[in-house]
Amino acid sequence: MKRERVVIIGSGPAGMAAALYTGRAQLNPVVIVGNQLGGQAAITHAIDNYPGFPGGIGGPELIEQMKLHAEEFGARFEWDMVESVDFTKGSPFLVKTYQQEYLADAVIVTIGADPRKLGIPGEIEGIGKGVSYCGTCDGFFFRGKDIVVFGGGDSAIEEAIFLTRFATHVTIIHRRDSLRAGVQLQKRAFENPKISFIWDTVAEEVLKDDSGAVNGVRLKNLKTEEITTKPTEGVFIFVGHVPNSPVFGKQIALNDEGYIITDERFRTSVEGVFAAGEIQDQIWRQVATSVGQGTGAAMSAIHWLDEHAETLQQLDAELAPTAEVVAGD
Ligand code: NAP
Repeated sequence: MKRERVVIIGSGPAGMAAALYTGRAQLNPVVIVGNQLGGQAAITHAIDNYPGFPGGIGGPELIEQMKLHAEEFGARFEWDMVESVDFTKGSPFLVKTYQQEYLADAVIVTIGADPRKLGIPGEIEGIGKGVSYCGTCDGFFFRGKDIVVFGGGDSAIEEAIFLTRFATHVTIIHRRDSLRAGVQLQKRAFENPKISFIWDTVAEEVLKDDSGAVNGVRLKNLKTEEITTKPTEGVFIFVGHVPNSPVFGKQIALNDEGYIITDERFRTSVEGVFAAGEIQDQIWRQVATSVGQGTGAAMSAIHWLDEHAETLQQLDAELAPTAEVVAGD
């Protein structure tokens, strides 16, 4: 078991910022990367609204720079996943990953949220065979094809516009007759000759051919109840996100939708556990806001550790026989 001052769960922009700040405070943080270094930002083709990068920057490139920057100040990145935590006894907290057990004085949770599924037959089986939740990752495979996009928010519209680079035509299918997306994005989509819309409609099933490849969607118009089939080889789904909070069980206060509740200092219901980024932010979800939140959470963690320094150092001595102390001062 390794004793740490700070364990950061998740490596998206919030985790990167938390790693930089706690690293710079000599806390030698360990970052549990999760299944995607950089989270959603790392699979975003171009980020053109992060300050300081006129002309935009590629998501993978920005994440790589953030990682190098955090490492410069001593952050350590572990390619590992959190299996369970024990927040019930207070600090130090047990964080169990597939490969290691950590005893962390403070924990910063930046574990993010995953794309929501439609929950219809054929959807999961179709992943990799025509169903996708990431235009940036998979758009290239749909060159010259007619594809459909589900959703009416910023993500759906932004991704639909991006996908017109590859696809012959993109049909946006939305369950209502107006979009949730911002007006600028709406305008760009309405003006794009390669984009058309099907309104008031949901998917009932993703259809496949004998080889398992997606070849259409069965649709239902919610106003007329008419059922139709739309042939397509690509089904892109952008209908919001689901927070990655199940790993915490009931050990931390969540809102009704499963997002971690924090106060203005990014403190959670557990003293010594902080949260930042999309695991606690349902509204802004920008790289810039996540970076700001990760910074705030790190500064709160640093203050909290300072306040409890004496007690925690006594614990170092008591735990020394069972836990290797690898953390900073
Ligand atoms: P979102 O804003 O929650 O939109 C989800 C969309 O999916 C909504 O249009 C919703 O329909 C639809 N939907 C939800 N569940 C559905 C279901 N089961 N079946 C069919 N449709 C369903 O999610 P998002 O677009 O991922 O955006 C999340 C946040 O990130 C937002 O705050 C957004 O502003 C932000 N964001 C910003 C940018 C940017 O600024 N460039 C880019 C991407 C995301 P209804 O409209 O009927 O509810």
